[in-house]
Amino acid sequence: MSINIAIDGPAGAGKSTIARILAKELSFIYVDTGAMYRTMALYFFEAGIAAEDEAAISSACGNVAVTIVYEKGEQQVLLNGENVTGKLRTEQVGNMASAISVYPKVREKLVVLQQKLAEDTDVIMDGRDIGTCVLPNAQIKIYLTASVETRAKRRYEELTAKGQSCELAKIARDIRERDARDMNRPVSPLRQAEDAVTVDTSDLTIEEVVSVIRNIYEEKIQK
Ligand code: C5P
Repeated sequence: MSINIAIDGPAGAGKSTIARILAKELSFIYVDTGAMYRTMALYFFEAGIAAEDEAAISSACGNVAVTIVYEKGEQQVLLNGENVTGKLRTEQVGNMASAISVYPKVREKLVVLQQKLAEDTDVIMDGRDIGTCVLPNAQIKIYLTASVETRAKRRYEELTAKGQSCELAKIARDIRERDARDMNRPVSPLRQAEDAVTVDTSDLTIEEVVSVIRNIYEEKIQK
């Protein structure tokens, strides 16, 4: 049976950074589910479909093929055969992803794909509903969180390092909005699974967070 590690939490808590490092250390596959929602969002955005138009989005879901491949251990996402990985991490696509991820048709499609990926492979999967919906039987569940201020500052630094112009106050506002939407949607809201361990990363370095989760993993798997 494969080992599954589920990491959930709000935007900017450090999920992808931590999951990527841990996956390398443990020789697991890292599955970034946010990238899948972003890929669907990119399709709807480029097709000129408004985020509010649930009917149009639901019926267009059948036209979107999301495929996950790995190149040198890094996840790549193909949208109808085209590698769109480099286009996904903008604020615009992130906000669209948050808006369209409330629709059941979008979620159904991606959850099936995510469950297949974890079926017989050791994975670290991060997202919002991994411990609660996608992999309810994951052996290890982590809920990674941090204050809004810390998360906004991290996103600001990430974007400015990439040369994208942005404003800290707007990023914080977007994070609050995205949290509210992710936590309050009727389908698969972001919440901590009952059997998840919470790790607040506000005052921890990346190395410290990795080591906390590694200890949880080693304790659990050795038992
Ligand atoms: O994690 P990331 O910021 O890339 O995710 C983008 C958006 O996709 C999130 O704001 C969330 O609304 C949605 N998402 C989700 N379920 C997941 C992963 C992401 O609803 N498992």
